[in-house]
Amino acid sequence: MRPLVVVVGAGFGGLRAARALRRAPADVLLVDRHNYHLFQPLLYQVATAGLEPEEIAKPVRAVLRGQRNFDFRLAQVTGVDFAARRLATDEGPIGYDYLILATGAAANFFRLKSVEQFGLTLKDIPDAVRIRNHVLSCFEEAIFEPDAERRRALLTFVVVGGGPTGVEMAGALSELIRLVLVKDYRRLDLKDVRILLLEAGNRLLAGFPERLSEAAANTLWRKHVEVRHGALVTGFDATAATLKSGEIVPARTLIWAAGVQAAPLAEALGVPTAHLGRVKVEPTLQLAGHPEVFVIGDAAYLDAQGPSLPMMAPVAIQMGETAARSIRRLLAGGAAVPFVYKDPGTLATIGRNAAVARIRGVSFTGFPAWVVWLVVHLIQLIGFRNRLFVLTNWAWDYFFYDRAVRLITEPTHPRVSQEVPS
Ligand SMILES: Cc1cc2nc3c(=O)[nH]c(=O)nc-3n(C[C@H](O)[C@H](O)[C@H](O)COP(=O)(O)OP(=O)(O)OC[C@H]3O[C@@H](n4cnc5c(N)ncnc54)[C@H](O)[C@@H]3O)c2cc1C
Repeated sequence: MRPLVVVVGAGFGGLRAARALRRAPADVLLVDRHNYHLFQPLLYQVATAGLEPEEIAKPVRAVLRGQRNFDFRLAQVTGVDFAARRLATDEGPIGYDYLILATGAAANFFRLKSVEQFGLTLKDIPDAVRIRNHVLSCFEEAIFEPDAERRRALLTFVVVGGGPTGVEMAGALSELIRLVLVKDYRRLDLKDVRILLLEAGNRLLAGFPERLSEAAANTLWRKHVEVRHGALVTGFDATAATLKSGEIVPARTLIWAAGVQAAPLAEALGVPTAHLGRVKVEPTLQLAGHPEVFVIGDAAYLDAQGPSLPMMAPVAIQMGETAARSIRRLLAGGAAVPFVYKDPGTLATIGRNAAVARIRGVSFTGFPAWVVWLVVHLIQLIGFRNRLFVLTNWAWDYFFYDRAVRLITEPTHPRVSQEVPS
């Protein structure tokens, strides 16, 4: 019988590893709790009514249809028995000869229970659709709200976290409201709308050069986003956000983009973890004492290179390739290879015609960076159909100042409607 390589997680790292094993003398089983691969960098566009969820996701079976040694299993992995080489899942046990764990990350609320309960996150498709429903519902409610204070709270949107997700979300939200919703809700006064981007540190986009952080903040201000540095959120009760300074910001919406940590499975493994619950791995991405197990992507913490390796798609993709290469070598009686990261640069967009980029040590901003951002994201999207639809949507929105997906598919944010303290 051929050896079985099980890959857990069909995200950037897991999918790339499964693909890179296509010619290996082994069978490959990809296991995920969802049946699709999700392009997370464009989730914020689903949340701001620019794209449909299915335009940024593709069924795993369709992606790897042509790969003969490949199969997929829809299951949630709950634990690993490393001694018996067996996964525990909600669909029963799955044995393996080699294992690649690529379970990604989850939101990190830093023990702020109220934010976890009432805030909105952006990690998956349901999160993005929930934000879209909630924002549009706030406008529907606001237009019939006679009380000025309550109306302003409905139209105040607090985005927490000045990393790429927070910056992109705040910029896109501002454009949705000021370029599109303004035409749908003519009776509403734009002066009642407030978008705040709260960052606890002293600058946005901490991983980028300082010049780009300043450019991003200036662009956001021009788009009427109130950017606040040193603003630490300590609570949110669905009617107001509280800051460490004591300031209270009346708002019905708080979008939490302030932190991530390894997905819960990492903690359940019972192996040494490091910063943000990521699993400590050897320089070859293998688990110490278990050379048949590799941990990659957001779930992995590489001691040799420390916390400097960001939780980003290129890291996960390159780790997936390295882990697959090592397994091919192990199957042939060779040794695993160490992981070396090649930084392709970083990009963040701040809306129409605006982005910041650092590529091969060169920093640039504005329209050129935005064009690079568009091209890179289109190329990376999986599937020709998705690329075509996304390009068409982007072109339409660009020329007609529109957002096609302004649908409220669940009438209101359930946690707000049911649990608002009276
Ligand atoms: C909103 C947002 C925007 C981002 N923007 C960018 C960007 O612009 N550029 C960039 O480089 N990076 C960006 N990132 C980060 C990037 O998406 C991650 O670094 C990357 O996805 C990590 O890849 P991964 O393979 O480790 O995990 P993921 O791609 O997250 O995949 C993990 C997979 O594991 C599955 N899974 C998890 N737990 C289990 C379990 N117990 N059982 C079964 N399956 C499980 C999940 O369903 C998922 O499919 C963004 C992330 C988010 C959330």
